[in-house]
Amino acid sequence: MTAIKPIASPDPSQAWIARLYRSLGSESGTPVRARHVVERFKEAGFPEDDPRLRSTLLNFRQAPPDEVLTAESFAGKIAADEMSMVQRALSGALVIPDFQGFGEHVRAMFEECREERSGQVASYIPQLARVNEEKYALGLCTISGQQLSLGDDQDHYCVQSTCKPINYAVARDLADRDTVHHHVGREPSGRSFNELMLNPQGLPHNPMINAGAIMCSSLINPQTPLADRFDFIMDKWQQLAGGRRPAFDNAVYLSEKATADRNFALAYFMRENNAFPPDTNLAETLDFYFQCCSMTVDVRQMAVIAATLANGGICPVTNQRVLRSETVKDCLSLMYSCGMYDFSGEYAFTVGIPAKSGVSGALMLVVPGVCGIAIWSPRLDRCGNSVRGVSFSQKLVKKFAFHSYANMVEDHSLINPTVSEVVRTADASGYLCAAAANGDLSELRRLIATGADISRSDYDGRTALHLAACEGQVEAARLLIGAGCALQPRDRWGNTPLDDAKREKRYDIVALLRSEALDKRNAAPKKRVARAV
Ligand code: GLU
Repeated sequence: MTAIKPIASPDPSQAWIARLYRSLGSESGTPVRARHVVERFKEAGFPEDDPRLRSTLLNFRQAPPDEVLTAESFAGKIAADEMSMVQRALSGALVIPDFQGFGEHVRAMFEECREERSGQVASYIPQLARVNEEKYALGLCTISGQQLSLGDDQDHYCVQSTCKPINYAVARDLADRDTVHHHVGREPSGRSFNELMLNPQGLPHNPMINAGAIMCSSLINPQTPLADRFDFIMDKWQQLAGGRRPAFDNAVYLSEKATADRNFALAYFMRENNAFPPDTNLAETLDFYFQCCSMTVDVRQMAVIAATLANGGICPVTNQRVLRSETVKDCLSLMYSCGMYDFSGEYAFTVGIPAKSGVSGALMLVVPGVCGIAIWSPRLDRCGNSVRGVSFSQKLVKKFAFHSYANMVEDHSLINPTVSEVVRTADASGYLCAAAANGDLSELRRLIATGADISRSDYDGRTALHLAACEGQVEAARLLIGAGCALQPRDRWGNTPLDDAKREKRYDIVALLRSEALDKRNAAPKKRVARAV
């Protein structure tokens, strides 16, 4: 067991520790127990082996679960160098504040997609054809390092073409954009991933198809021995995955190599066109490419790798910068346009998330600034993408505002999990009231345009119109009334906006509200009076 790091000297006078401690009690008088703290970390999405919280989690887990904690003993279990992370984790200062609620939606979608049983496993090599086609797993990691995994999450699978964006990114980090793109294009090919074809400049179309991936492999430390190149790329994967090293499937590697006529043909074709850097060793380049395709990971590792991309190249679990942000930007752009074989355009259009799939049924999704998702399900559709993976992606963007252009559309059925529901609605009503009180017409217009409920009241029953009336903001009141807000809402003291305007002697608003009330009355259908004949 890992040694426990020196823990913080108990100092409950530190305001934040005292606040955290108070936030842990569920009912007044209920003691805070060690297991409650462990549960809170789990609910927030922090696995037991999170390196940022390792000692603190160990301290709480080693305590008897029912140990009643005082503020002092709570503080005493927090490791000194993990304090800021503990504060973030327990105060919910995380990209997905309600991680449990979010996880329930993800779990429901994951289970719905399990019913998809169409498609075939890849059969070009026996090692892939033999995989249990029912295997199914999902991993998710946010840019705050909150993690979730479902299904066969302990199983290792072959990364196959999901190594392509990584090889591109690593090559890009070793050289600049122009140097790399002197050898590989950045256009979708519109043809099959292993088509014997180059672009008009005699270069592979992009790094996400075989020719481009072979080219990127040739750019990764070409002058060093092959063994060192392999160690180097494994180290990169390990850093991207938050410290967990991938494994290697030698049988897959050997059969990849034995059935690689097309990849050899592509390499010779590129050499004929002088596409490679001078002195490229073709055999070693291909060997290195097959080795990269034959690495194996589990979905938890792959999700952290995708989250590192979502986080601009900084691994969220270790806070280590692994890739330059420029590199990640370019890599995601290519994944967006070219990552899903012959389905890339359709996927970008309907799902709108940078992604890369592989023939093993692997799929990696990157929701920039939010999270990375890894799915593994071996049955493939006609384009070579995981059937369940594509189906899950489609469901994901119907539930969450994750499509790159989702915010162009006012669709209230889409959830933005980065904002909690309570905060979202409270914020909108708070902003409305503040904008009305200050007569900030442009902010009011923005809120109305984004669909804020303009009649919504705060805890005291005060609405934006009450505030405008009180503060004499006649234009704001006019705008709110024009947009159809309620005219006579009562606050918790029983006052309407008209009452407020009269009390504060805002006579122009009194006149406005009276004329509106009159207009309303005049517009109301007249009651039919029975006439005596
Ligand atoms: N190893 C495979 C090949 O080069 C990768 C296929 C893929 O996942 O697209 O043929």
